[in-house]
Amino acid sequence: MTDRDRPVALITGGVRGIGLATVFNLIGRGFRVVVADLDAPDETDLARLARRSDLTNLIVDVTDSASVDAMVARAVDTHGRLDGLVNCAGYNRHQPVAELEDATWQRLIDVHLGGALRCCRSAHAALKRGGQGAVVNFSSIAAHIGRPRRAPYSAAKAGLEALTRTLAVEWAGDGIRVNAVAPGIIWTRMVEDNIKRGTANRDSLIAGIPLARFGTAEEVASAVGFLMSREAGYITGQTLVVDGGATVNGNW
Ligand code: NAD
Repeated sequence: MTDRDRPVALITGGVRGIGLATVFNLIGRGFRVVVADLDAPDETDLARLARRSDLTNLIVDVTDSASVDAMVARAVDTHGRLDGLVNCAGYNRHQPVAELEDATWQRLIDVHLGGALRCCRSAHAALKRGGQGAVVNFSSIAAHIGRPRRAPYSAAKAGLEALTRTLAVEWAGDGIRVNAVAPGIIWTRMVEDNIKRGTANRDSLIAGIPLARFGTAEEVASAVGFLMSREAGYITGQTLVVDGGATVNGNW
């Protein structure tokens, strides 16, 4: 396979956490990868990334349509094709609904749900041209169970799963598969920050997980890599839950 024949994947939110682990998984599967994020990678990760071949780094804000369109155009200009899109950009804020400000609600919905919509819309023509496109959206178990103080995040993720099913059907004729992953509690900066702020408690989180530990970014990245690959060629419109059994736990 020549270099120009190697598939190209674009990932948002890819400079740290689960996104960064997904970048390494996709490179391992032979993808050329375009990483786009609001932030630049930190120096250690940048050095790790720079050692890998065919990696392009872009700044994007997924809440801004012009920024998203420019990201997709750069990815296609650089590599001449686009075969995969992973919508991983995200963040979380915990607040009870009674105190929730409009701006918090709107920003969370706009980053997670609006962001994925903008990236999918912008990437559609290039994914269709390739003939075997794949999209993976990042949901969360918060879309499936009632987690207090997470209303905008949970609603955005549930909406993202509905968007995933709609696009799976709308784009099946274009040869594009659209799936989602729903991670449980994964040890990343997002979870670490919540524990440090006191908005989450480590022991009570682990008590609810049958496998009795947090997941790793690499374990979620494997699920994303699988859904992006030809091995998942007959899977579309699905959400793959990666949660150590948390959402099937009846042991209470
Ligand atoms: P993280 O904070 O380590 O990484 C998220 C990345 O998204 C960051 O690099 C951030 O800069 C980027 N980002 C945020 N807003 C953006 C914007 N407007 N435009 C572009 N980039 C933006 O988080 P993570 O834990 O690796 O989470 C990755 C994804 O997985 C998120 O969608 C999150 O909701 C989801 N998720 C995480 C967990 C978990 O336990 N960590 C659980 C379920 C779902």
